[in-house]
Amino acid sequence: MTLVAYQKKREFKKTSEPKGVIKKTGLSRFVVQKHQARNLHYDFRLEAEGVLKSWAVPKGVPEEAGIKRLAIQVEDHPVDYINFSGVIPKGEYGAGTVGIWDKGKWNLIEGDLGSGSLKFNLMGKKLKGEYVLVRFKDKNNWLIYKL
Ligand code: MN
Repeated sequence: MTLVAYQKKREFKKTSEPKGVIKKTGLSRFVVQKHQARNLHYDFRLEAEGVLKSWAVPKGVPEEAGIKRLAIQVEDHPVDYINFSGVIPKGEYGAGTVGIWDKGKWNLIEGDLGSGSLKFNLMGKKLKGEYVLVRFKDKNNWLIYKL
């Protein structure tokens, strides 16, 4: 795990996003941040291995079964990002507003990120129940859907 890609993209004198460190908290949290950047999207993040594994989900994580959404994996974010909301200034990476859309705990049911296929539980306010993330071959593109 590394935060090098995350830190390289940002100037921490200009953005209030956390610089962050790899931090194993022993917790298994998730967050969905609504990010009104140039294009509105939702950032889905799972706490794992001391970072937040992260995906940009253009249409949002579905609250109902039967809807499959594209989720583009992006750079690992620091665990402290889980509480971030605010404005990323104009001209900075991801410029726009970030708000917490949902958060809670998650747990693995089966599979793992490395293999590109996992089933897990989300215990949030809006997102509850069993979900699947599955990666397309050789790409950062995944599908996320509720079972
Ligand atoms: Mn984003």
